[in-house]
Amino acid sequence: MTDRALLDRARRVLPGGVNSPVRAFLSVGGEPPFVARGAGCRIWDSEGREYLDFVGSWGPLILGHAHPEVLEAVTRTARDGLTFGATCALEVELAEAVLARFPFAEKLRFTSSGTEAVMSAVRLARGATGRPRIVKFDGCYHGHADGLLVKAGSGLATFGTPSSAGVPAAVAALTDVLPLDDEAAARALFERCGREIACVIIEPLPANAGLLVQRLEFLRTLRALCSQHGALLLFDEVISGFRVAPGGMTQLTCIAPDLVTVGKIVGGGMPVGACLGPATLMDQLAPLGPVYQAGTLSGNPVAMAAGLATLRVLERPGTYERLEALGVRLGDGWRTALRRAGAKGDVARVGSILWACLQDGPPSRTWGCIRPDGAQAYATFHRECLRRGVWLAPSYYEVAFVGTAHDEAAIDRALAVFSEALAAAAAPA
Ligand code: PMP
Repeated sequence: MTDRALLDRARRVLPGGVNSPVRAFLSVGGEPPFVARGAGCRIWDSEGREYLDFVGSWGPLILGHAHPEVLEAVTRTARDGLTFGATCALEVELAEAVLARFPFAEKLRFTSSGTEAVMSAVRLARGATGRPRIVKFDGCYHGHADGLLVKAGSGLATFGTPSSAGVPAAVAALTDVLPLDDEAAARALFERCGREIACVIIEPLPANAGLLVQRLEFLRTLRALCSQHGALLLFDEVISGFRVAPGGMTQLTCIAPDLVTVGKIVGGGMPVGACLGPATLMDQLAPLGPVYQAGTLSGNPVAMAAGLATLRVLERPGTYERLEALGVRLGDGWRTALRRAGAKGDVARVGSILWACLQDGPPSRTWGCIRPDGAQAYATFHRECLRRGVWLAPSYYEVAFVGTAHDEAAIDRALAVFSEALAAAAAPA
């Protein structure tokens, strides 16, 4: 069946033809191909066209598609049953493996998505502090729980929606939104209502509204303010966890948050999230404590096996050095391609996460500094790349990922395509 025919069928039964909004390609235009299969750093659509993939399922696939060791673990585990709703040894093993990488934490709770991990962490923060308010940052995305859909990035950045319909004003009113990169604004808020704040939640490496690399000093100030005012600091490492280092930004910044949420890579391509922290906090969760949290498929054995296999491969010596080298190659080459084409823009990069900020000057650190005309330039660039077999995120505001399945040849091929795409975009229509 052709992609076109599939799209028609999909649109009849799935709102927008998708199960997650950015997949509909609305902000870049064109029709989304249907992905039929993936191997390593490549995917193929239902008509057999091949693409070099720099989305990696939006982050989980740091080892690439269908990694043999992950597949082996998944199929071996699946043969013994898909789910039991009772605790299995793999949950304990993956919990130990995650906690070994985040030594500030002693216990964790698995969920089936990043959204649920964050929802659980926020409820835990409120339950533990007895306070109602939460603080988030403009442009940071933490999944689609009601109280966090306020000035969020990701799909909402794509659609320019400040928040979502269906979020009651009373719920949104308990969320304070601060600008990134602004210590004074954070201090002022804490002075005003510090005693009501249960937690400050931040992506320590904001990667859902472009890649807004924060100053270490800013993150340290948040740590200090939270400690001073009895609020919890929650690092949402759903993207950065296991990606920028085994222990994510928590490891790289040497800042100890009170709670961390992870997702994506921890499930190795299967649906997993987790909320982790010190035992005193985590033991406030049911069944030990008063904060309710649960999930029929939480700790699913097949998903645990995929996560464990992924973390084991990642821990091999040289993995993060390799990811860094590949990231440098793509980032430097992309920047050069922009310059040579006379196009506006620079590339922000941390390890294997990259974002081309298509405006003059250095890449921005705040959502407010991103100028919307970059999105138009990106839409054309995206289309030209897709036609030439390079699969980038179908939104200006989403980052690109490289993984261990990419190699120099794949990156150089992508860079050649970037140059052609930029030239095609610059050519008169
Ligand atoms: N937090 C962050 C930082 C994310 O990037 C995402 C998803 N991109 C989420 C939470 C939500 O995760 P999920 O889509 O698995 O619910």
